[in-house]
Amino acid sequence: MPKIRLPDGSHKSFPGPVTVAEVARSIGAGLARAALAGKLDGRLVDTSFVIDHDAELAIVTERDPEGLEVLRHSTAHLLAHAVKELFPEAQVTIGPVIENGFYYDFAYKRPFTPEDLAAIEKRMNEIARRDIPVARKVMPRDAAVKFFRDQGELYKAEIIASIPPGEDISLYEQGNFIDLCRGPHVPSTGKLKVFKLMRLAGAYWRGDSKNEMLQRVYGTAWAKKEDQDAYLKMLEEAEKRDHRRLGKQLDLFHLQDEAPGLVFWHAKGWTLWQQVEQYMRRVYRDNGYLEVRCPMILDRSIWERTGHWENYRENMFTTASENRDYAVKPMNCPGHIQVFNQGVKSYRDLPYRLGEFGTCHRNEPSGALHGLMRARGFVQDDGHIFCTESQILGECQAFTALLQKVYRDFGFPDIIYRVSTRPDKRIGADELWDKAEAALIESLRRAGIDFQVSPGEGAFYGPKIEYSLKDAIGRVWQCGTIQVDFFMPERLGAEYVGEDNARHVPVMLHRAIVGSMERFLGILIEHHAGAFPLSLAPEQVVVMSISEHQADYAAAVAERLRADGWRAVTDLRNEKISYKIREHSLQKLPYQLVVGDKEKQAGNVAVRMRGGEDLGAMALEAFIARLRSEADALGTA
Ligand code: ZN
Repeated sequence: MPKIRLPDGSHKSFPGPVTVAEVARSIGAGLARAALAGKLDGRLVDTSFVIDHDAELAIVTERDPEGLEVLRHSTAHLLAHAVKELFPEAQVTIGPVIENGFYYDFAYKRPFTPEDLAAIEKRMNEIARRDIPVARKVMPRDAAVKFFRDQGELYKAEIIASIPPGEDISLYEQGNFIDLCRGPHVPSTGKLKVFKLMRLAGAYWRGDSKNEMLQRVYGTAWAKKEDQDAYLKMLEEAEKRDHRRLGKQLDLFHLQDEAPGLVFWHAKGWTLWQQVEQYMRRVYRDNGYLEVRCPMILDRSIWERTGHWENYRENMFTTASENRDYAVKPMNCPGHIQVFNQGVKSYRDLPYRLGEFGTCHRNEPSGALHGLMRARGFVQDDGHIFCTESQILGECQAFTALLQKVYRDFGFPDIIYRVSTRPDKRIGADELWDKAEAALIESLRRAGIDFQVSPGEGAFYGPKIEYSLKDAIGRVWQCGTIQVDFFMPERLGAEYVGEDNARHVPVMLHRAIVGSMERFLGILIEHHAGAFPLSLAPEQVVVMSISEHQADYAAAVAERLRADGWRAVTDLRNEKISYKIREHSLQKLPYQLVVGDKEKQAGNVAVRMRGGEDLGAMALEAFIARLRSEADALGTA
């Protein structure tokens, strides 16, 4: 007689074994219709799952994050079902859930076309409307291998054959389509209402370029039509803001084949970069950091001591000279320890904070590269704090406050905080982990911050806080981090003399605020859609002459602005003023000044703002006063 405890704390008893669906029905007809799965003692199960013991059960609907996962996974099966109906020769492989949707990889004799994609989506809608029940089946492993092999599904057979022998395999069947799956799934295809196929791509079987190329179909699925519409709108907006497109349009940077994953910054892009770097430099200086600069290439003996040479070698660029091996640094930490190790440090020197705009290189696979967002060469706003255990709390508090200020100044008031705690594989005594985790959590609590905890997600050498910002179209980017490290200082011989006159190993905090400068600039470009605030704009003011008669005056106006610290340029070309305005508007310059004979005689400028607002004529000095009043925390003026 199972007694079921529900999420509201109430209990329901049943005379005998009962399915999740029956429990839902006993609560209400509405819930029975909405049920997509059950969460039984914390484990997701189908609505057809039979409960025969006392248990805790939550009915999962589309309102739960798990419900959305089930919907997406079931939609991937729906996709495979439709492909098998339309292209019986296609073989199914894998179809996982990903962020915002799912994909499915098929082996087929030719690439799918956009027309195929439309036909597949249409068939998916038909199968959904047929409202076919989805049933779970269990088969012994070897029988499942034979079953798929007999159907010509060689990839599925191969996947199942790699599961340990003797295990039972769960399969899901809807009509004439059957797929290997752990589940759970929606009870019938009619539950799948809001989905869309997005795009096609090639993907190697098992992700290995030595294997055959499969056809990957990406899709998205949602509980509600409004959610999907909002998502598609966001994608459209993201496409318009793509930093690679804007980088070209605004002449900020380029990438080329001869330097994969490495950025060529153009003058305007580098000016933007410098605004960010100079601001960060002031932040460091004002908050007790010493800015340093360490070599980019270090002897392998250092990387052997940190463990990189053994565990991370294929991700490092290496070089040799005079029979010595070197690695191009993938991180700045070992360099900072070399600086710390110069001269004897005492407890009075702690906390000892080093900062560097440190150039790192990591040999990322070319397929993973993505403009500025994922590059092989990047600069971190990296810093390391050497401190005692008892100083961790204070340093974390100060760091979080600093990061909040920086993100706010850059126009990102929404921050998401996540604490990652000890993983199974780790070094250091549990007592040390207890203290470090407690310090990280306490630092956020004291600031009144809501945070998430990811158990087991910390690094092997210590726990961390990760900071993510939300951009103008709601996308979340993890940029900042502070990580406790019990490992590297000892490995590289860092120590200080304590109050007790004995030698101690300091704790090291790795911390970054913007993370990769390249990526952060990519985020800024997309966040502002290229229309940077005055303080960041590579060119802030353009002075345009109406005819050649005002060329001298326009040049003098620009000169005066530059003398006051503004990035001003002239456009003295013999072009129509409307043409010049259109061009500089496309360049998203904050201010466009027009000077004709009238302005020249009066010592005025006619001011147009980005976006077209016309402020009319004003004295040059009045315009400069206006610029000054607009300078913000990022500005150097
Ligand atoms: Zn570090």
